Amino acid sequence: MSKRNSSLGVKLILALMVVAGIYVYSSSMFERESPHITMQTNGYWNLKNPLNIEIDDASGIKSYSVVLKTKDEQSTLHNEQLIVPKKKIQLEVEPPRSAYGMKDKSIKVIVEANDTSKWNFLKGNKIVKEFELKIDKKRPELSILSHSYKITKGGSALVIFKVNDENLKDFYIETNFDKKFVPQPFYKEGYYISLLAWPVTEQSFKATIVAHDYASNESKSYIPLYVQDKKYRVSNIKLSDNFLKGKIAELAEEFIETQGISDPITQFKLINEDVRLKNEKLIHEITSKVSTEMISDFKINEMYPLKNAQVVATFGDHRKYSYNDDYISESYHLGLDMASYAHAEIKPQNGGEVVYSDFNGIYGQMPLISHGLGLYTLYGHCSSVKVGVGDKVKESQSIANTGKSGYAMGDHLHFGVLVQGVEVRPAEWMDKEWMKLNIQDVIKTAKSVIDKN
Ligand SMILES: [Zn+2]
Repeated sequence: MSKRNSSLGVKLILALMVVAGIYVYSSSMFERESPHITMQTNGYWNLKNPLNIEIDDASGIKSYSVVLKTKDEQSTLHNEQLIVPKKKIQLEVEPPRSAYGMKDKSIKVIVEANDTSKWNFLKGNKIVKEFELKIDKKRPELSILSHSYKITKGGSALVIFKVNDENLKDFYIETNFDKKFVPQPFYKEGYYISLLAWPVTEQSFKATIVAHDYASNESKSYIPLYVQDKKYRVSNIKLSDNFLKGKIAELAEEFIETQGISDPITQFKLINEDVRLKNEKLIHEITSKVSTEMISDFKINEMYPLKNAQVVATFGDHRKYSYNDDYISESYHLGLDMASYAHAEIKPQNGGEVVYSDFNGIYGQMPLISHGLGLYTLYGHCSSVKVGVGDKVKESQSIANTGKSGYAMGDHLHFGVLVQGVEVRPAEWMDKEWMKLNIQDVIKTAKSVIDKN
């Protein structure tokens, strides 16, 4: 071996040692970071649901323990030494049996973990993490004070209830369809009121009040409404060439969805389905809002927005369209069509705030009024509108004139009533007797119960 070769050898060995040193220093065997402990918690525990704890470490976990500490005692729930170290441990820590009788208002959960790192003179890294949890074993208190006796398919109802919990997180009314009703504070603290609606497209109705506290305790209270089915009309409508070449061709020019489409049947299908869906989505979004303000009462007059009008189409009609005996499309008529003379004045019997006043596709010129408690009224196909968004309108104020804007053949008013984004039967809100039984009396009963408390 030449001198030159041997000095190269020494250099190579030195280089290897440096690389080895860097390797050791940076390798996971000698990592200097303590394990990470996380617990899924918001600071509350009901002493029922398991605690989800996760421990992870780059070099692997050698041992861990979970200790529960109250004012006077301490119990070890887990204490493990791992033969094969793990990089991640997910624990579902069940409370000890004795815990349920515990009177403490809070508890400490102490989690300790050691890793397999050779760092720290081979002892590894250690971490101790303490979590203080507030104990809440009590479910929210839920009681129904009064409610409408029944709900009819396509119709509305009212419920008033009490909810109480020192750590109340949320509550709402869930249904058997895809809708949650949001209650509004009513009369005195802890009391809530909500209108309910049974969509005409749903076969059944079931509503349950649900409340949660921060410790994940849950209460449920079924609203025992008498459920009444109602048959709605199914209309088979034959599309005429006159209609397709007239109104539909005219509308097809206006809408984005029908640009570049020349086939009248396709135009109709797009207008009756895509455009309708978009227009109704906008209506539902605006009318889903409920105020969080406390109300002490809810007064509403029976509705009849058009004087001396004739009903020309009823709510809930299931319209099936065909052309030359071929099925084309279908839709539900979600309002009441009323006709008087052309450009008749629309004067709602209830005041409120204008929440929309613009063109809305097949609904044409369409003002929307909020009457509070998630109750809204809609006025479609207007020829002119006299109010703008944000305007407060008074009882019997003229807000618009009837017309045939949008998808309307003759001059008429499409009158819609919505409860938290659900179209309901206007007929109920036009019926004095229905309103007394289902709105005023329910409120009166609830108030007398609250006043006695
Ligand atoms: Zn209509």
